[in-house]
Amino acid sequence: MDKAIFLCSICNISSGSCAEDCGFCTQSAKHHADIQKYKYKDIEQIVLEAKNATNYGALGFCLVTSGLGLDAKKLSFVCEAARAVKAELPNIHLIACNGLASVEQLKELKNAGVDSYNHNLESSRFFYETICSTHSWESRYQTCLNVKESGLTLCSGGIFGLGESKEDRASFIQSVKELSPQTMPLNFYHPNPALPLHAQPLSEQEALDIIAEVRAALPNTMLMVAGGREITFKNKQCDIFGAGADAIVIGDYLTTKGQPPTQDLEMIEKLGYKIAKSCHA
Ligand code: SF4
Repeated sequence: MDKAIFLCSICNISSGSCAEDCGFCTQSAKHHADIQKYKYKDIEQIVLEAKNATNYGALGFCLVTSGLGLDAKKLSFVCEAARAVKAELPNIHLIACNGLASVEQLKELKNAGVDSYNHNLESSRFFYETICSTHSWESRYQTCLNVKESGLTLCSGGIFGLGESKEDRASFIQSVKELSPQTMPLNFYHPNPALPLHAQPLSEQEALDIIAEVRAALPNTMLMVAGGREITFKNKQCDIFGAGADAIVIGDYLTTKGQPPTQDLEMIEKLGYKIAKSCHA
């Protein structure tokens, strides 16, 4: 089988204590979830995690910070981390995910070696208003437009299984399609007792149907199954690629554990797929 699967890894370089109230996010201080919180991860540790990820075949590495957006201090920290990672791993595809950002801030990240920016619309315009009261869906959409203007490549997707309707999903997918991102992360809700959302979990088949629906709508976008993969698809994880996924996040997520990368590599090998060796494959 010729299909090659892309691997990406995410690194939470500034965790928790966010003043926003996104109903699906354990990093919001308003939900008091029991997670690890820290202002800035050591740069050496970030570089080490990037190296570990590439040792498992990850091509992409994402520097994620909690919070609404970037102030001068946070921007300079992300730039420092980006430079340090690129100095050791010049070929890594570096992604930053730091919330709302202006064109100027994004250009600074680009100058520091960042290749792509991840900012998710998360859900439909209508549904998003019911799960977040502290910032608008429009501000998210504008950041995605800023990414395109800055010259970075855009990675934008969202999260399913929050209690959104089929119409919400269709509207959300249409909005992402309008942005035409290079990559679309598909997250699946990981419930936590501290969070205010208590939707009926998606069945494995419903989640596979979502991947297929997105695939049909965005035939040229890389679809990356990200957070919630293990708990949503369980022993059907091997079916996500047939449904249309091209990529997965390996290792741990922002505040939850992922299965060991060796298990992912084994699954991909058993299915007869290759691991992609270049982002331009
Ligand atoms: S998704 Fe981002 S902005 Fe929303 S609560 Fe979480 S860290 Fe804050």
